[in-house]
Amino acid sequence: MRVTLVGAGPGDAGLLTLRGAQRIKNADVVLYDRFVSDEILAMIPETAEKIDVGKNAGNHPVPQEEINRLLLEKAMQGFDVVRLKGGDPFVFGRGGEELELLAESGVPFEVTPGVTSAIAGAAYAGIPVTHRDYASSLHIVTAHGKNDRQPDINFDALVRAGGTLVFMMGVSAVDQICGECLGAGMMRDTPAAIVENATLGVQRKLIGTVETLPDMARENAVSSPAVIIIGKVCGLAERYDWFGKKPLLGNRIIVCRAKPGTSKLSEGLRELGCYVVETPTPMITSLTATGCLLDKALESIDDYAWLVFTSGAGVNVFFDHLIRTGFDIRELRHVKVACVGAETEKEVNKRGIKVFYRPDEYNGIALARGLIGLSGTGERMLIARAKDGSADMTKSLSEAGIPFEDVAIYEKTPGMEKVEIGDVDMAAFTSSSAVEVFAKSTASSELVGIKAVCIGERTAAAVRSYGMTPFISGEATVESMIIKIKELCIYGK
Ligand code: SAH
Repeated sequence: MRVTLVGAGPGDAGLLTLRGAQRIKNADVVLYDRFVSDEILAMIPETAEKIDVGKNAGNHPVPQEEINRLLLEKAMQGFDVVRLKGGDPFVFGRGGEELELLAESGVPFEVTPGVTSAIAGAAYAGIPVTHRDYASSLHIVTAHGKNDRQPDINFDALVRAGGTLVFMMGVSAVDQICGECLGAGMMRDTPAAIVENATLGVQRKLIGTVETLPDMARENAVSSPAVIIIGKVCGLAERYDWFGKKPLLGNRIIVCRAKPGTSKLSEGLRELGCYVVETPTPMITSLTATGCLLDKALESIDDYAWLVFTSGAGVNVFFDHLIRTGFDIRELRHVKVACVGAETEKEVNKRGIKVFYRPDEYNGIALARGLIGLSGTGERMLIARAKDGSADMTKSLSEAGIPFEDVAIYEKTPGMEKVEIGDVDMAAFTSSSAVEVFAKSTASSELVGIKAVCIGERTAAAVRSYGMTPFISGEATVESMIIKIKELCIYGK
């Protein structure tokens, strides 16, 4: 039983601390806010209860008292609770209020600080918040008081201090903030900046002066979340602009996932500055309860000459089941293993088992053709794969008179959430099953005309069947897909 307030950082998931990540991975219950990124939310274990207490698509946020009560209630039930908050939990994050009830009730708690957007927003805009030549203090100020009242800010003191001023929750009050600074005697040409969606691929920054910033914000329709930074250090923003130089900054790309884990494609694209939205990965539900079809097949494993896998997930579920039920792997020694593609083969190899056959072409018909050629008369095959797997392979085997058992050992359900495409520039697919997952979780009218970068012909065919426009990468690798995406973003071809 423990509650940890964890700072999720400003948006870029790479800015989460190691301790924060560890707490999330071990949590039983996670309460999270609006600005916490999907990448970080994806780290929450499937078994944990996820509670969204932020504003969501027009819904009102859960009232503060209710959050405080939930934290206490879940902890009292004996759970390890993580309260995941944007930036740092104590920097205008109400972390102090959330601890009150816990302290009163004697519930143990910890605080894992986060990278606050006040500082990260400046860093990603090329602004060092302090500098020996320009600013020897940093003042972080909220433009928003309790119960929506104006906070009582002592602008005279702030301006006199001469340090860097960072205002949070201030988008709707830029005029006032800058006006008050000028009123308190700040030089008109004092550099000032506003950084919107800091640290994300959709970051925008405007650099001006305390006098010009309000008009600039209006003209560019700046919206929340954004930090306002005022002080001489903002004059360095052009010179130290490192994030703004990312070649694909501002391009919004949906990376469609067919399996969990980190995506090399997303990582590579984010590195180039893209704003990547990942579709939720489908959930793998094992169908291997006691007495399942797989158990029956394993009881008579001596009758089988082949074991056929068509996915890495299938391999995982199969071997997890053997381990869980205490099945001695050596009982498989007479069985030849076949699989459909390189990824599946890799998973089999991880179990210390060599694959006897894998077709050159990555599809079920090619696999069946190879198996038909290789198998001796009457050799029985055990196909361990997903429920509702494609009939291509089994049809060919039946026609060739090969005896087999098609055992569904897991089920794939698309990620729960519906994917909102919004104003993305393109989608990227590393497999045709990713296309299917995406299509299932998106309204079909939204799919038509989407630019879709595909890893190969098969994926492109799936993409075409939903009315999307395919662009095939030169080679069937993630690196080559990234090159294709770059071409499309930069040259539009
Ligand atoms: N605890 C948070 C702040 C919460 S108050 C932290 O330490 O960052 C919410 C305000 O934070 C927003 O109004 C905005 O001013 C700022 N903010 C949060 N995320 C931001 C982002 N990605 N870019 C710019 N400002 C951000």
